[in-house]
Amino acid sequence: MEMGENPQASSASFTLHGAGVSGGIAIGHAHLVSTARLEVAHYEIALQGIDAEIARFDAAIAQVRGELAALETSVSTGAPAEMKAILSLHAMLLNDSNLSAVPRELIGSRRCNAEWALVLQMDYLVAQFEEMDDPYLRERKQDIVQVVERVLKAMLGTGHAPAEPSSEKELIVVAHDLSPADMILFKQHQYAGFVTDLGGVTSHTAIVARSLNIPAIVGLHHARSMIWEGELVVVDGREGVLIVNPGARVLEEYRRLRSEIEGERQKLKRLRTARSATMDGVTVDLQANIELPQDVKEANEAGAAGIGLFRSEFLFLNRDDLPSEDEQFESYREVADAMHGRPVTIRTLDLGADKSINGADRGGPNPALGLRAIRFCLAEPQMFLTQLRAILRASRHGKIRLLIPMLAHAHEVEQTLAAVRQAKETLDDHKIPYDRRLQIGGMIEVPAAALSLKYFISKLDFLSIGTNDLIQYTLAIDRTDDTVAHLYDPLHPAVLQLIAQTIRSAKRAKTPVAVCGEMAGDAAMTRLLLGFGLREFSMHPAQLLAIKQQVLRTRVREVEGPAARVYRAHDTGRARALLAKLNA
Ligand code: PEP
Ligand code: MG
Repeated sequence: MEMGENPQASSASFTLHGAGVSGGIAIGHAHLVSTARLEVAHYEIALQGIDAEIARFDAAIAQVRGELAALETSVSTGAPAEMKAILSLHAMLLNDSNLSAVPRELIGSRRCNAEWALVLQMDYLVAQFEEMDDPYLRERKQDIVQVVERVLKAMLGTGHAPAEPSSEKELIVVAHDLSPADMILFKQHQYAGFVTDLGGVTSHTAIVARSLNIPAIVGLHHARSMIWEGELVVVDGREGVLIVNPGARVLEEYRRLRSEIEGERQKLKRLRTARSATMDGVTVDLQANIELPQDVKEANEAGAAGIGLFRSEFLFLNRDDLPSEDEQFESYREVADAMHGRPVTIRTLDLGADKSINGADRGGPNPALGLRAIRFCLAEPQMFLTQLRAILRASRHGKIRLLIPMLAHAHEVEQTLAAVRQAKETLDDHKIPYDRRLQIGGMIEVPAAALSLKYFISKLDFLSIGTNDLIQYTLAIDRTDDTVAHLYDPLHPAVLQLIAQTIRSAKRAKTPVAVCGEMAGDAAMTRLLLGFGLREFSMHPAQLLAIKQQVLRTRVREVEGPAARVYRAHDTGRARALLAKLNA
């Protein structure tokens, strides 16, 4: 922390606008970060301590050199082929004098601590790479960052403890961009809020921010460059407004609003044990989305009827190796045990696009359209089979269901089902028990699947509509790109048709259907989805009680007609006006 260190910091108040990704209001001091992993302490080294600091730096470089060599020889056969190549590239970068020698000079000449010197040099190298014309070389900046992260990790605990923030609960993280993997690391902290310059509201970064249940804003464009460390900021996550250096009256008003929202939150808790049914007695299943096994606690606290989406790929982030079959089995079993027989829907790996395993970015030039999710799994059969065996083994410990992401083609369904059969045969050969009736469902998140639903219904036990991707792919906008975030619209007639028709066709075929995208956790959409016939919703635990409140206030019979009118609207503006009426 360098609270208030910048003498040029002005106290003029100004406001930035972005997209609010999670509700509520946070008031605190700005804490500027690059990425969660690169947050380092900055301090001056005494003249007589320089040699020891350089020795600390050298020791960390030597340690990482050893780690990379060991990893290269131990990369498992199931790992993607690129992993080995990337590790040797990392070793080469580490040995280059730009990383192994220049920071030593900086420690000596500027007397900055080793971590600071390394990050200074990294920023310089990353800026150089960013200017390269060749897109391949430009992307190599990621490798520099990854190598630096390793060295920083090695230096942890080998010197002065990083300066502790006065209290995390009073800090607002301000970043240019954060990856979903970074966000997951923030789960270990207790920051008051988050704001980023980049990102769309349904990017996985935003989704994880939402799961932290603290106010957050993305797409602010200039927050990182305009805000000084330590400045007082107000994050209005409902409106997507960030106020820097608020005046006394504005601050007072936001403090009042903050306690009002907290009061409403507390009141909602009373609904935890209420039966989830509409006023005309229709039962509505409200389940929870989780990223890590530890999130089950919040799902239970919110009274979730099950886990409707376990984004299992988060088990694979922020690590150098792949989790083994046993490790995965333990994670899945932990969730199943904690849910005590209620359903746990484990989505198979959805890697690629904005989530990649360290050192194996297989996204290609258009990651969202590239080798992602089931495509990636089918291209890496050993990795996929390992996961399937782990899920099958855990299926004996609860009501586990398997969910396949991003299906578009019949052959993807066939190959997936064949892989499940193969995983079962292996377990049979070893006499390892599993639930033989394990249900297999598919995510409907590519328009091609929604438009050829009959096939998917005929082969799968259940469906779950991933509205985040369904909207992204229908409207041809990258959900992580804030420059097109304004085009991301759940009320576009094409999107509404795909959702409503999927629900209708599935129900007609008596195939269970849920929505597990962010739309399911948006209280403004609850009545519309109920009117379309939806009875299963899965969302972040933090959103569950607000959705239950909507369910309890609704009569299905009364919303069917108005929902059909929204569905028939020819344009988004009309749909929005009709939706407002429906929610009035
Ligand atoms: C979705 O696409 O709506 C979904 C639930 O999956 P994810 O957000 O993880 O892509
Ligand atoms: Mg998706």
